[in-house]
This record gives sequence, structure tokens and C-alpha cells, in this order.
Amino acid sequence: MVKNFLGASKRYVLNHLDDPAIVLLYHRVTDLAIDPQMLSVKPDNFYEHVKFLKRNYYLLGIEEFSYNITKSKKMPSKSVMLTFDDGYADNYYEALPILESLDAQALFYITTSNLNTDYELWWDELERILLGSYVLPDYIETSSGKHVLRLPTSNTAERLTSYHSLHPYCKYSTPPERNRMIENLRESAEISAEGRKSHRLMTFEELKHLSESPASVIGAHTLNHPALSVLSYEQQQEEINQSKIFLENVLEYPVEHFSYPYGAKKDYNKKSMRICRETGFKMVCSNYYGQVHSRTNCFELPRILIRDWNKQNFSQYMTKIFQY
Ligand SMILES: [Zn+2]
Repeated sequence: MVKNFLGASKRYVLNHLDDPAIVLLYHRVTDLAIDPQMLSVKPDNFYEHVKFLKRNYYLLGIEEFSYNITKSKKMPSKSVMLTFDDGYADNYYEALPILESLDAQALFYITTSNLNTDYELWWDELERILLGSYVLPDYIETSSGKHVLRLPTSNTAERLTSYHSLHPYCKYSTPPERNRMIENLRESAEISAEGRKSHRLMTFEELKHLSESPASVIGAHTLNHPALSVLSYEQQQEEINQSKIFLENVLEYPVEHFSYPYGAKKDYNKKSMRICRETGFKMVCSNYYGQVHSRTNCFELPRILIRDWNKQNFSQYMTKIFQY
């Protein structure tokens, strides 16, 4: 209660000094049969979101937003920036045409290791194995460190419980450990590594086409999507630097922006911020709820995660975000 009051008071003061701006976070624009992490927004809803923002807010281009925040300048009133994380193919096929048709621009942060492959990102693979249509034995096994994890999978409820219990183990493992856990799981379930077309990331060609549109700017989002906070300084450096270099080799122009995988305060640390600064990124986004002001640290900008809301729910949420 006291904390809420202090937070509201701080926002009240800050918002009188300069108008708040908001960064919105999307992941996918498509229609999925199941979406346990709620990362997808249906194309019709996304169209309504962008149209509503164009009419009622000031949808800034990435260059303008980045210039303002890196120079600690005040944003125009009701400023909003759009961002996407991860690099799903639907960003190119579904989101981009909508952005282009409404003359809007978004910043697309790309995880590079699964580009141009048939493999799914680990959380999608976990979903495919445990919540998909495969017939599974009564339990399947994997291991985390020295612990063997036996996951009950004899019915839908057990499969869902197993999915939710394994998810945090994978999220906070290093990429090699995580990949081994998923591989063990796949072997135990006798399922192939080839992913669903509906869950693939972009090809290099699609990424290049996306980058050539005036409706997009490309940023980096690591090689393997780890929680950076579980990695050593050197491992973080590899994930952050190499994803920038990888994208620059594909796109043949400088990549100046980055977002932390998962992006909550516990998912990155001061080392991550220092590496981002030393790597030469201009603007870095996190993923915690908050408004942006001219003095907000441009190496951990808060973002607002957007769900598959219809126009009415989206507009109510936008009003709430901008409130003092
Ligand atoms: Zn991500």
C-alpha cells in the first residue's frame, strides 16, 4: 500500500516534469491453436491496436525515440514506440504489412541461433513435446544437473503441470544445459527435432526483406536467448557481442539496439548493461512495467507487454498506462 502510494507520487512528480512515453512489447502476430505463454496477438487485433495508436497517441519512429532518450530530451506528449522480440516469421508475414499499411514503424529484436532453421525456440519446443498432439508414455524423463526429472504425461492435466514445472528449469539454465534437457525430453518421448512451420523464426532472406522496409528497424536479442543473469561475464559478452556481429553480417549495416531476453530485473544484471554499453548499443530495452521519462536509463528501458486484447481492452489499458 505504502509502496504503491510512493510509486504513484513519484510518477505524479515525474509526469509533471516531462510527459511519460511508453514502449510496447509484442512477440507474435498470428492466430495459434494454443498459446500457453500468451505471446501472440491475432492480426485483426494488432491492426486495431496500431490504428488506435495512430489516431490517439504519438507513434514515434525508432530513430526519433532513440535520439530523444539517448540525449535525455523530452518526448512529445503521449509518445509510444512499438517493439517485437525474438524474430518469428510471422513478424515479416503478418505484422509488417499491417505496420506498412498504417504508416507505422517497429523495432524488431532478433535472436539469431534459430534463424534459417527448422528448429523451434526452446519454450515452443517444450510446448510441442508436452502439450502437442503426440501420444506420450505415462511419463518422460530429462535431467537438470545431477537430478533426473521424471515428468508425468499420462493425461492432459499431468502434461500441463509437467510443462509448467519444467519451464523455469529451462529458462534459468545455460543454453547448453537447456538444449540438453530438451534433447533428453525429445529422446524420451521419441519425437523428432524438426519444428512446426507455424513456430519457425525468419530465414535470412525474410529478415533482409523485413529490414529493408521503412516500417522496421532491426535490433539484437542474443544468440541463444539465455537469461543473461545466469551467465558469466565472458558468456554474456559472447551472447551480446556475437548477436550484433551476426546480424550485421546478414544485414550489412550497423545494429544499434538490443533487448534483454525475458527482460525482468532478475534476468539481466549490471554486467549485461556494461557489456551493452561497451558493445556500442545506443538503446536497450528490458521487460518490466513502467513509463519512460527523459532521464530514464537508456540501457534498461521499461516495456509494457501487450496481450491479445480487442480494441476496447487495449484502449482501456493504454489509458491506464499513461495515468499518473
Ligand atoms: Zn525474447
